[in-house]
Amino acid sequence: MDVTFFGAAGEVTGSMHLLTTDKDRILFDCGMFQGRRKESQEKNKTFPIDRGQITNMILSHAHIDHSGRIPVLTSADFAGRVITTRPTASALEYMLLDSGHIQESDAQYLNYKSLRSFLYQLEQNNVKEKVTGREKSQIKSLLKKSPYELNVEAIHKLQKQHGLDIITPLYTMDEARQSLSFIDGYPFELPVTIGHDTTVKFYVAGHILGSAFSLVTIKRPEKTYRILYTGDVGRFGKPILRDPTLVFDEEDRDIDLFITESTYGDREHEPVQDLGTSLAKVLNETFDRGGAVIIPSFAFGRTQELIYILHELYESGKVPRRPVYVDSPLASNLTRVFVEHPETYNKDTHKTFLEKGKNPFQFEKMKFTQTVQESMQLTQDKTSHVVISASGMCEAGRILHHLRYKVHQPQNTILLVGYMAENTLGRRIQELGEDPKTYDKNAEAPELKILGKTYPLKAKVEKIGGFSAHADKHELEKIITGSNLRIKKIGVVHGEVSQSSAFADRLQTLGYDVTVPKPGDKISF
Ligand SMILES: [Zn+2]
Repeated sequence: MDVTFFGAAGEVTGSMHLLTTDKDRILFDCGMFQGRRKESQEKNKTFPIDRGQITNMILSHAHIDHSGRIPVLTSADFAGRVITTRPTASALEYMLLDSGHIQESDAQYLNYKSLRSFLYQLEQNNVKEKVTGREKSQIKSLLKKSPYELNVEAIHKLQKQHGLDIITPLYTMDEARQSLSFIDGYPFELPVTIGHDTTVKFYVAGHILGSAFSLVTIKRPEKTYRILYTGDVGRFGKPILRDPTLVFDEEDRDIDLFITESTYGDREHEPVQDLGTSLAKVLNETFDRGGAVIIPSFAFGRTQELIYILHELYESGKVPRRPVYVDSPLASNLTRVFVEHPETYNKDTHKTFLEKGKNPFQFEKMKFTQTVQESMQLTQDKTSHVVISASGMCEAGRILHHLRYKVHQPQNTILLVGYMAENTLGRRIQELGEDPKTYDKNAEAPELKILGKTYPLKAKVEKIGGFSAHADKHELEKIITGSNLRIKKIGVVHGEVSQSSAFADRLQTLGYDVTVPKPGDKISF
């Protein structure tokens, strides 16, 4: 028996590993590659395995880099089921549709850009030396319905007319919707049959709502084989969710192959406990200046943690009760999924809220905005308030409108609570916040480009760490050495090479048999 690694081997996205037994082929995760557009699109389109040959798929959690290619799997001749936990299955109803929407709008934007540059060239070559600004704006207005909405029909018609290639999305919202009928959610710690005398049992991984360690047991006359795939591992002592599992059922303790993530295989995180204090400080200072706090946040996980901590702060009276708005339809839907799965909460959450008859994710001053009109109205609100909005790295979505109306006023605060990848607006805000003097020395204030226009950044930029959903090196090690598992072999995945190798080295010094597979590599057991 063996496992072949097709994604998240020497990198952090595109998780996909195939378990091959004498009778079945079981897929662990089916994630999307993210990063440089062209390169990742290519990797996402090529499916490395014959989909008709896969018995079933096991999904560790709902993040798109683990689940985002499910519609690609189910659109071909895949005849199995996607087995996961109940909260993950519920979250996917929103996550996959949102992903389909992003694929569609990305493809539309690329079509728009290629047609626009073709039309500029046409003007230039046929008529005269240079395309004037007026002609450019005429072409633009032909291709757009409004400053923020493309005229998709007109774009496709002109592309066809001029014989240009039309870029198609990896999958559409419709295909994403169809893939949902393949997904089955099961309770934690219940063996589910996934193949010939083969079961999977999910244990809490503490990374995001519904995230699980998948423990696969294969019973054969000569021996029983066990594989544990961690998916992404959470931190210990975080608000809301239970800690990653350390105590496994007696019959599950002997593991032949342990496949672990290693995102922070060589790093140490800040302690978790100061989040409330840091958040209270930022809110109090901003409210004293009469400003608003704008928080770009991922819709799943981070947003609900913020709501939870704000709820605690508002209850305890540590901050004045100014209104809090969650302005992201995806985040609102996913918050409802959180509400519906109290079985995944830790003891503190039960004690602080549920036992008192309170919903942790709803309090008097908090409101979920739904319509675009409500959202636009909110951007005009001059009184002190808090806005939590997506996308988390300020690449798209409603957060951009809050930023463009708030960044130029010094009383406001942009609060960063997540990782900002290179070349994102979020990263630029973070860098300017760390050292504003290094930029635009002659300008009155450093400048930010938002939705094609330039704005001076005068708002305060604050950053709170400790929100990470990933275990650091000590916490990863704790699952291996501090749990009741007896592990024979370890495969280290889901990390940049430096992180995976450092973690593997550490495990080797502890006496484990460790491999860091490259894409396409196999580990037999
Ligand atoms: Zn994840």
